Amino acid sequence: MRDIYESLGICREVYEYGEQVLAGLRDRFDAIDATAEYNQAKVLAAMQKNRVSGACLTASTGYGYNDLGRDTLEAVYADCFHTQAALVRPQITCGTHALALALSANLRPGDELLSPVGAPYDTLEEVIGIRPSLGSLAEYGITYRQADLLPGGGFDWEAIRAAITPRTRLVTIQRSKGYATRPSFSVEEIGELIAFCKSVKPDLLCMVDNCYGEFVQRTEPSDVGADMTVGSLIKNPGGGLAAAGGYICGTAECVEACARRLTAPGLGREVGANLGQLPGMYQGFFLAPTVTAGALKGAIFAANIYERLGFACVPNARSPRHDIIQAVTLGSAERMEAFCLGIQAAAPVDSHVTPVPWPMPGYDSDVIMAAGAFVQGSSIELSADGPIRPPYAVYFQGGLTWYHAKTGILMSLQKLYERGLVDLKRNE
Ligand SMILES: *Cc1c(COP(=O)(O)O)cnc(C)c1O
Repeated sequence: MRDIYESLGICREVYEYGEQVLAGLRDRFDAIDATAEYNQAKVLAAMQKNRVSGACLTASTGYGYNDLGRDTLEAVYADCFHTQAALVRPQITCGTHALALALSANLRPGDELLSPVGAPYDTLEEVIGIRPSLGSLAEYGITYRQADLLPGGGFDWEAIRAAITPRTRLVTIQRSKGYATRPSFSVEEIGELIAFCKSVKPDLLCMVDNCYGEFVQRTEPSDVGADMTVGSLIKNPGGGLAAAGGYICGTAECVEACARRLTAPGLGREVGANLGQLPGMYQGFFLAPTVTAGALKGAIFAANIYERLGFACVPNARSPRHDIIQAVTLGSAERMEAFCLGIQAAAPVDSHVTPVPWPMPGYDSDVIMAAGAFVQGSSIELSADGPIRPPYAVYFQGGLTWYHAKTGILMSLQKLYERGLVDLKRNE
């Protein structure tokens, strides 16, 4: 085994350091495998119940009327998420689009949107109009309010109660921390939050941004009262095989509103050709529980390697996981560049390129990104990025297989080791 890793450029010291760390992770990996096994059965049962057939995998064009494969895939998602309905389309271009669709379809002028978990993901700032933007919800007379989390990351129940007004129509809850340093929430915590909001105002709609959270646990936010659960197919539920798309699972009424907003009033879900995308969408969903498990193992492996080397990790090496993102605070731009170089060098695509920091629009500092993905921008594939500014943290996620995630992390360590930026003897 050491030889094959050596042929990839990973030296004996780095490989053995990894094996030592891995020896302590067997029980956690077993628990992750058990979750994947449970979720695999859930997906399989939904496919069987809905009689997925060869005819479901064929392409449709034009209007896409009577698209059996598209309608069946939506029924499969709805059954897996235990919702009345689902909208799963390649025409939903990304996660931000799915979230914008869910919000704009279910809010009306004069309504207020509430985030009880602090600031939303960066790209939603323009959707909502927190940062003024053409076409934002604010331009349509929809106001926004937020209740920040408590300093420890907990829900501020009193602030949330106070923020719910007669105009509050929809509550948006982001499960994953995204690129913030707050904790990600478990499905159980999200359930408590939804129950609380609905106890204050029973006719509220609750939407959960489930990006990076799918299949991490045995339940989803839709199991604990969410009216809409929303995500991207180039993250967990696409299993790396969906070429594009997004999903919204929820109540019949909410999903119908989304379909009419995606296409047109009167048309709704009846139109939308699948354009030959269904095989990857079905097969990716089928593989998603095990792909997610591999990414989770990678995140835990990274946290345990880097924490032992003295770098702060969020979540830390031992804490439970509610999404697949791992933040590692490396403390210098030089280390961030070496880390990302390693992730890139381990990729199946573009492994020969060197990631360099660049001034990305919308950020106040340069950003570095490592990604060598089969699907552009896919972050269920092994990837890492971060803004070049204190505390110099990289955000790491994905890996279509556990072995590839492992290789990427070892390669990141290799690049740091070669440059004398880590001390492997530190804890011996
Ligand atoms: C990735 C992500 C989004 C946006 O998804 P895109 O596909 O990048 O538009 C929204 N919210 C969270 C928490 C995410 O991780």
